[in-house]
Amino acid sequence: MGKVLIIGAGGVGTVVVHKVAQNPDVFTEIMLASRTKSKCDVIAADVKNRYNVAIQTAQVDADNVPELVTLLNAYKPELVINVALPYQDLTIMDACLEVGVNYMDTANYEPKDEAHFEYSWQWAYKEKFEKAGLTAILGCGFDPGVTSIYTAYAAKHYFDEIHYLDIVDCNAGDHGKAFATNFNPEINIREVSQHGKYWENGAWVETEPHEIHKPLNYPEIGPKESYVIYHEELESLVKNFPTIKRARFWMTFGQEYLTHLRVIQNIGMARIDEVEYNGVKIVPIQFLKAVLPNPGDLGENYTGWTSIGCRIKGIKDGVEKTYYVYNNCSHEAAYKETGTQGVSYTTGVPAMIGAMMFMKGLWRKPGVYNVEEFNPDPFMEQLNIHGLPWIELHNVDLEL
Ligand code: NDP
Repeated sequence: MGKVLIIGAGGVGTVVVHKVAQNPDVFTEIMLASRTKSKCDVIAADVKNRYNVAIQTAQVDADNVPELVTLLNAYKPELVINVALPYQDLTIMDACLEVGVNYMDTANYEPKDEAHFEYSWQWAYKEKFEKAGLTAILGCGFDPGVTSIYTAYAAKHYFDEIHYLDIVDCNAGDHGKAFATNFNPEINIREVSQHGKYWENGAWVETEPHEIHKPLNYPEIGPKESYVIYHEELESLVKNFPTIKRARFWMTFGQEYLTHLRVIQNIGMARIDEVEYNGVKIVPIQFLKAVLPNPGDLGENYTGWTSIGCRIKGIKDGVEKTYYVYNNCSHEAAYKETGTQGVSYTTGVPAMIGAMMFMKGLWRKPGVYNVEEFNPDPFMEQLNIHGLPWIELHNVDLEL
């Protein structure tokens, strides 16, 4: 059906390549390109072994538009799946526009020199993509991604108006390390150490980092202390579902993780500005990334589950109702299938499904769109088929 270029050979990229290779009827040709080609070759060899599917590989610096343009012109994919880092979103979008290629990612743009992410930069490309007749699909991982699609599905099938949305993200897994992040450490630490923020009555309410917290019960897992943090899908969801009165994002953190995080911040290792060390300029958080465990390698001894879902309250036919939809994903099962842990898996599977939606023509319209702006039904169907089945609970106590 189509030719796809995946950019980024990290934990998420590994899962995307596996899942794309498992669907050769949809993805007829596959290329994986990244900054370090040897990493692409290792993934391609593993996939060839497992599914007997050939993956082409290439080296590319995705910060460099001319390099990207050369690669896109040479390979001529229909769609680029960007699973490099959020820093590369705009350069890859620019190259896609220049060559005439459709675009998809899993995280919104973030400038390197400012720990700040918002959609405005990418939404500003809407007209350019419309004029070029190209589709750009933003935020197609789990959160953002599946959580946004869960919300769209709830709005379509179960509610006339959604009033309260709480996205709950629990990682109850154990990787056996004193401290490690589950996806790119630089991006992860920037995200979780910033001020909290949630939407209430038409405005953003800012909190101190991790100020609001309470134990929430996760299915098959039990109670876990959960913290309100800002997460990017809140921005697009309150815009696309304007009946929402309050939208929050909760994430679980263990005490050990928070203690390490506090120390890292207090000693300056989370700094994103350059410091001089022995005559060399280094960015502390980038140095820290180099010494922390690689998230892509955590899988082997990872046990336990992730549990991510949406807890929604609103009205249907004038009656108040609640709805909880979630997926529990086993780190061990993810590792067995793809050699990566559950957080990479829960991001890579939706990225493949989003690409499948595009290739099948189900999610294809010129412009720049967040995933909740497309029909959620065929996507939800595929989640059940490709490893992330969902469970619905109606009119239960949401604890929130
Ligand atoms: P990793 O750090 O494991 O992988 C990133 C990959 O991108 C690496 O292979 C890296 O290359 C490559 N890369 C970085 N910079 C460039 C560049 N300039 N040019 C080419 N390649 C580059 O990250 P993850 O796999 O954990 O995360 C990937 C993306 O997924 C991130 O954007 C993250 O924010 C997003 N994500 C989204 C989630 C969601 O649910 N929506 C959840 C988790 C992650 P090298 O190997 O040389 O370093």
